[in-house]
Order: sequence, then structure tokens, then C-alpha cells
Amino acid sequence: MQSRVDRQIRALALAKACAAHGARVRTISRITGMLPRDLLHLLFPDRQAVPRGRSPDSPEWYHGANLLCRAEASIVVAIYFRLRAADLSAGEALLGAYHHYCGVCESPHRISFDRAFDLVAHTDGIWLTETQSFSLVTCAKCRSAFLAAFGAVARSNDPCPFCKLVQRYGTDPRVQSCFPARPLAAPAPMQLGMLSLLGSNASAWSRTPGE
Ligand SMILES: [Zn+2]
Repeated sequence: MQSRVDRQIRALALAKACAAHGARVRTISRITGMLPRDLLHLLFPDRQAVPRGRSPDSPEWYHGANLLCRAEASIVVAIYFRLRAADLSAGEALLGAYHHYCGVCESPHRISFDRAFDLVAHTDGIWLTETQSFSLVTCAKCRSAFLAAFGAVARSNDPCPFCKLVQRYGTDPRVQSCFPARPLAAPAPMQLGMLSLLGSNASAWSRTPGE
């Protein structure tokens, strides 16, 4: 059991991390349960630095958004659900998912932290609403998880944003710059050992008998 002070320290650490990603005070308040006035006082001593502007409204936005936006939105929400399945709290899963998304997709990121919060809220039915507007659907063709209208079922002829991106990749520089080809990761020491083992066996096999 966490003590009250542990819970407050954890909420404050989460609030600070959300603010570092540009979250609005309302968003941080919904995620942590902390009061907006406390958040303003603790996180934004400089009132000029308070993020402003209209909050995102994702159920409207998503279906009219371009392909790259829909792909990036799907990536954030898919990672969120993986982290939830690993028993993280909703707030920690959102933060982890956003952090990971920023690592895998190239800048400029099309999904703001507030957008990610709004997408997750309307998919998981939390924080803002109990109504789920989106489902995470698995593409019948490429097996990627993507956001679709709530209750949608994947069919092989459904327009999956990732299948479309793959089709466009060769001819669309915007898609290439968003998902640049990366060199393969260097093999770990164990794999290197395995490779040298395979190599020596391969050279042994390639030798002709009697050599
Ligand atoms: Zn697909």
C-alpha cells in the first residue's frame, strides 16, 4: 500500500513529466487528479509559459486527418494499450507511450501530448468521457494496430494507414522523412559469438574433404 505522501510525490513527478512534454494544465489535472491552481503554482511560476489554445477534439479530427497523422496517432495509442496491459497506471502508460512515440517517429511530431491524451481518453473511455469513440483494430493484411471508429472490425479491404504508407513510401518524400530507413542494430555480444560460431562452422562446411 502506498502512503498518501508517496501518492502525492508520484502524482507530482507525473505532472512535471507531462508539463515537460507541453501538456496543458487541464490535461495534467485530469491525469494526476491534482488541482489546476496547484499545478499552475508549482509548474508554471512564469504565467507566460502556460500552454494555451483550444483543446484537441479527436473524434472529429481523426477521420479527416492526413495519413501520417493517422499513423502517428495509431502508434501512440497502440503503445499506450501495451503499457496498460503491463499494469502501468493510465497516466504512466500515456507518458511512456508519448515518450516512446517521440523516439520512434521523426520530428516534427504531428501528435502533441494533449492530442495523445485526447485520443487515449476517447479510445479507453477515461479522463474526459466514458464513451469510446475509437477502437484499436488489427489490420487483416499487415497485422498493424490502427485507430478506427468504435466497434469497427478489420476486413482485408479496409484502408489501414500503415498499408497505405508502405504503398506510398517509394514515391513520397514526406513519408520517407517521417520514417527514414534505419541501419540494423549492432549485434549484441552474444549474437556476435553466435555469428562467429556459425562462421567457423560455415568455413568448416565449405572446406572440401581432405583439406
Ligand atoms: Zn495494414
